Amino acid sequence: MDEYIKIWNYIIMNGGYDNTYKMAWAKAVVELSIAVQDRGQHSVTFTFKQIAEKYLSYYWNQTIYFDLVQGSNLKKIPEIVNSTKALIEQYHLTKRNYLPERFEKVQFERLGLSLAYQDAIGNIVKTLKKDVCYRFLNVGGITYNIYELDRKVGLVTLSADRVRGLAEYSELLLQVINYRWTQMLESFNYSPKIAMKVRAIAEGKIRRNNLSSFHPYLDLAFDNGERICFYCQQPISDEDLSVDHVIPWSYMFSDDLWNLVYSHKTENSSKSNISPLEEVIVRLEQRNKLLKQKLEKSVLKKDKQYDQLNLAIEKDYVRKFWIAAKG
Ligand SMILES: [Zn+2]
Repeated sequence: MDEYIKIWNYIIMNGGYDNTYKMAWAKAVVELSIAVQDRGQHSVTFTFKQIAEKYLSYYWNQTIYFDLVQGSNLKKIPEIVNSTKALIEQYHLTKRNYLPERFEKVQFERLGLSLAYQDAIGNIVKTLKKDVCYRFLNVGGITYNIYELDRKVGLVTLSADRVRGLAEYSELLLQVINYRWTQMLESFNYSPKIAMKVRAIAEGKIRRNNLSSFHPYLDLAFDNGERICFYCQQPISDEDLSVDHVIPWSYMFSDDLWNLVYSHKTENSSKSNISPLEEVIVRLEQRNKLLKQKLEKSVLKKDKQYDQLNLAIEKDYVRKFWIAAKG
């Protein structure tokens, strides 16, 4: 392997960290190197603004779907994540719902969010200048000059050869970056399935399953066939019916009978990733016991769903995941 790539690999694997900034930096520079068209130049310069746009896309997607914690200090959220969260909040307010959307699909200008977007980019550039851009080069007290910096204007310059090398080895480097980034997230987050979440984001494969296959199970909790909303306890018409994750899907990243209830559509889409109240948790525990009894008497097969419901009751999943999700 090229000596230059080895140094990148070494920095990615060994650089100190108390947040994930360095991984975003490495990923941005590698991705920008892939995108360079004109290969005839002597050197290539990336602006911090270009890099900041990459940062925003990474943190947007990891935050809006899973609200992943990106730093070791829970009381002090990294500034770049804060800027990203502020923009996401603006987006939700404008759309008047909490449905997540991939960064690549959001039309900030059409939504009247150009200024908010520029604000976020400006803030990110500031942090890159005062923090990330030069810290990245330092591992264990040694500085590796793998690119040139203009911190005042906010520019990274690399020779054309080096950019070509980064593009050529990009597949390998991006894998190492994702691996290391996931490791960091594992140390900052308590939520389950971190690696699966990161991968789903990177591959753009986050999809919500259709939950109608759970209807026959959930229906067992009601005697007269009338479906009742778990939250407001009122009947639900077929058009307004939805299946909701009590402990947020964004946390669990899975569909489990023990965590699913009927609710009105409007109630489902208006709550974001807010952790439920204890009163709700107690009712869910009761519901699960009832569902287990009913399932045992029903004609439905005692299949995987039954086994998992049983396990959840036995192992106290509702309470354990709820406590963990509260943080
Ligand atoms: Zn309701």
